[in-house]
Amino acid sequence: MRYAAPKGTKDILPAQSGLWQANEYLFLHIAATYGYREIRTPIFEKTELFARGLGDATDVVQKEMFTFMDRGERSLTLRPELTAGVVRAYLEHSLSGEGPLCKLAYLGPAFRQERPQAGRYQQFTQYGVESFGSHDPSLDAEVIDLALAFIKTSGLNQVKLLLNSIGCAECRPLYRQALLKAVGERARELCPTCQDRLVRNPMRVLDCKSPVCQSVLAGVPSTTDHLCTACSEHFQMVQRRLYELGIEYTLTPRLVRGLDYYTNTVFEAVAGGIGAQDAILGGGRYNGLIEVCGGPGTPGVGFAGGMERLFLALAAGGDASQTSAGPSVFLVSLGDEAKTAAFRMAHELRQSGLATEMDYLNRSLKAQMREADRQGAKAAVIIGEEELGRGTATVRWLEGKHQAEVEIAQVTAYLTDRLQGEKIGTIGVV
Ligand code: AMP
Repeated sequence: MRYAAPKGTKDILPAQSGLWQANEYLFLHIAATYGYREIRTPIFEKTELFARGLGDATDVVQKEMFTFMDRGERSLTLRPELTAGVVRAYLEHSLSGEGPLCKLAYLGPAFRQERPQAGRYQQFTQYGVESFGSHDPSLDAEVIDLALAFIKTSGLNQVKLLLNSIGCAECRPLYRQALLKAVGERARELCPTCQDRLVRNPMRVLDCKSPVCQSVLAGVPSTTDHLCTACSEHFQMVQRRLYELGIEYTLTPRLVRGLDYYTNTVFEAVAGGIGAQDAILGGGRYNGLIEVCGGPGTPGVGFAGGMERLFLALAAGGDASQTSAGPSVFLVSLGDEAKTAAFRMAHELRQSGLATEMDYLNRSLKAQMREADRQGAKAAVIIGEEELGRGTATVRWLEGKHQAEVEIAQVTAYLTDRLQGEKIGTIGVV
């Protein structure tokens, strides 16, 4: 019996893990430069947190959550997104007490029971930020700037930023009424999902992809036609800030986003060439969320992106050349004594930060050299019996093919000196 990974999940194999590590590091590093510090929350939470936080009427809560009972008959759910858990932790640990503005970054797996397809998985990896405590539209622009800075630095240059405002608790009900009135009798023509949405969460019909629904909705008013003065001014300021940063965007009146908690600004970055699931990341403002989760009224703004979709887009048009690094140094040894010296040398080189590999299969010198090449090592250190007798080893640079005889006791110093940029310690942690 051979097992396969559950549908909608993926193994990240060593050939891709370098890409993951580099981008995970890059994201947290860029977030830190914008003042967002990492928070890690549990992978599962009480089901109620998501039902309340995301909204009972959302697709995610209605049909996509992995929910299970623990032995005490408490309902738990694998997180379908990370914001609700971050809000829970923010309130539970009174992070507002550390300062009036709390800026958090996160990265980790999320789970949704959706029909798997290209770019849509049941387990995927979300990265994102949240900023709690300020209404300032500059923060909406900062979050967008950070999101784009990350995807651009990761190598993806061709993304389109979609932007809209969906108003607040005051102006949204008026828009809803106007929308229902404009759809009027033609509601019957909408797809079954939208008929249901029209009752539970009417604004969600706006982003339905069905051509029939789109034709019914052709003439309906835009969310921005019904913004109250405060929301309208807020949206103007977000746009001004984006303009000041030279960030281009497309006003997209139909953009409403899937989760209930959004207010005011909503945005999405989409990429071409990756099929229907083209949203690389999305976010916006959610001034009501913290209150819904049991806290005091606190404004918030943030975004979340899917790492897998970013990599799909990079593979389709960006620069995904970054692959897992092999060893910097490969130790080639012949004979027991040389192997003992190689084993000790490997330990020393690794201690000094150089990724080092050696032969464990007693292969011939030629086969070991081939292996050093195959693994992409920068240098091979050859310890033969003859050299050992002289207390030396041959360092061969695999690209230029030149070589030098170096005293065994000096090999580590010699290589660390010449391979400074390869040292694992120099990548470091944020
Ligand atoms: P959402 O909160 O649904 O807007 O999700 C934010 C981002 O997470 C999206 O823009 C996608 O990049 C990613 N994402 C959401 N659902 C999935 C999924 N099922 N598989 C892969 N990525 C996803």
